[in-house]
Amino acid sequence: MRAEIISVGTELLLGEILDTNAQYIAARLPAIGLDLYFQSTAGDNLERLVDTIERGLARSDVIIMTGGLGPTEDDLTREAIASALGEELFVDADAERALRAFFTSRGVGFPERNVKQAQLIPSATAIPNPRGTAPGWWVEKGTSASLSTGFQYIIAMPGPPSEMQRMWEKEVEQRLASLAGGGVLITRVLKTIGAGESHIDEMLAPLLKSANPTIGVYAKPDGVYARIAAKAPTAEAARDLIAPVEDEARRILGAIVWGADGDSLEGIIGAMLNERGLTLATMESCTGGLLASTITDVDGSSAYFKGGYVAYTAQMKMGLGVSAELIERYGAISSEVACDMARAARESFPGRMGADYGIGITGVAGGEEVEGKPPGTMHIAVHDGREAQPLSYAFYQGRAATKRRAVTTALFLLRRALLARG
Ligand code: ATP
Ligand code: MG
Repeated sequence: MRAEIISVGTELLLGEILDTNAQYIAARLPAIGLDLYFQSTAGDNLERLVDTIERGLARSDVIIMTGGLGPTEDDLTREAIASALGEELFVDADAERALRAFFTSRGVGFPERNVKQAQLIPSATAIPNPRGTAPGWWVEKGTSASLSTGFQYIIAMPGPPSEMQRMWEKEVEQRLASLAGGGVLITRVLKTIGAGESHIDEMLAPLLKSANPTIGVYAKPDGVYARIAAKAPTAEAARDLIAPVEDEARRILGAIVWGADGDSLEGIIGAMLNERGLTLATMESCTGGLLASTITDVDGSSAYFKGGYVAYTAQMKMGLGVSAELIERYGAISSEVACDMARAARESFPGRMGADYGIGITGVAGGEEVEGKPPGTMHIAVHDGREAQPLSYAFYQGRAATKRRAVTTALFLLRRALLARG
């Protein structure tokens, strides 16, 4: 079945906010067997919105819309769908009662204009939205324009991403998948770190010729991914196609594969530390706390993360136990100092931290040269109690990306140290 996405909102059109809803939905359509042909954005204008929906109805089986379901004047999605289908809006009594009850339960008066959110048309049913007040719409209309099933569908979901995502996961995705019936595309992403994109491509060359599943290699901020995608009549059959190819890819790539699909590097490392009953402490300079922040993105990180210092100036580093002599001799931006920061983070100040592993990061995140070292210069080290393993490079891609890359590299070094320990 052919699908298209229509994002509604002037803020989106003018680039004031990024259309993450369309990205979220688009990425999920292949797995349920819907072919995405078009994406459009329309502002909060009735005439142009109707026009966009009509165009969609002329070429697609399924139109997925987000935004414009709120109570205000400029929320026009319901009106536009009604107009495009030539149907009359009416207020659904049950929905109105539920909406009034919702406001009462929160002890606030009911703004009469909210009645709008209880509206339906004959072809629409409401989709529950426990995260907000605007229900979605599931519209089903028998039409001759339909390309395959005799029906066309419009799914309208609220704009706020948390409301939209819950509605998609719980209410929409399965229904669309069963409509699409045909074939499903299942993907499996293997995530690697420690080798470049072209190197991985070369290693996987014997597998790249396959037509089903297909394999694609691409670089991401946290390493290089290999994406295996199989099409089959059922999800199970697709997984059966993927399994042997995944096994072979894992055999070829070995320990550089750190995870799959939704895994995060910090999550994987957290699990490794947890399993081994080990702890971690950090001292970071140019990443300004991003390393500690990333480590604590994982639920339960308090079990292994003791804490982290952000030591930006040389004085601060020395105050935290980093050797003044090393700073004097090699400069604060040096591999020697990164190693000493890792040591200081893990061991120093009896009773304060004391962790099994320490990580130190020092470098130049952007701006001007420091100590004659250009932006992008990075020294990172992991200390395991016996020695420090340093890694240095110089690669500038803008401030944010440079910091992010340093954090990824630090996590990579820690993973390597943990694997070596066994
Ligand atoms: P509300 O009841 O909050 O008004 P709504 O369904 O009318 O919901 P909009 O008014 O279009 O939705 O958007 C509300 C907010 O949701 C926007 O200000 C924006 O922050 C977010 N939002 C809307 N559409 C998108 C989108 N496509 N991608 C990311 N965020 C979005
Ligand atoms: Mg709105």
